[in-house]
Amino acid sequence: MREVGLKLTPQRFAVLDFLVRSREHPTADKISAALNRRFPRASRATIYNTLNALRDAGLVHEVYMDDAVARFDANLDRHHHFVCRVCDRLEDVPYEAVGELPAPRLGAGHKVENYEIVMRGVCAACQRR
Ligand code: ZN
Ligand code: MN
Repeated sequence: MREVGLKLTPQRFAVLDFLVRSREHPTADKISAALNRRFPRASRATIYNTLNALRDAGLVHEVYMDDAVARFDANLDRHHHFVCRVCDRLEDVPYEAVGELPAPRLGAGHKVENYEIVMRGVCAACQRR
């Protein structure tokens, strides 16, 4: 965090630490609930501000799904996502699993700088149920 010029507060550290350990892509509400025991006085607004500061510093990514509620991701490697429509689990898909896409034909001469694919389906656990 010092490298990116963000003041290392215990709360910012706790949120980032939680995200680095989590594979769940939690929402701000989930993070807030999970950290509530350690920071009982941290309001949801404080957690939101903390997440925005971490995002602006490039330490976490926001992943937007159909419901427009941001989920947070501390995996900064380029990767895609798979989301299960039954259990709502969102998991990482390595970039190499998809590979380079052919150059998309866009109108108006737009230049694509990056893209992220969200694959939707039913996860292995839900198919077994
Ligand atoms: Zn599932
Ligand atoms: Mn991810």
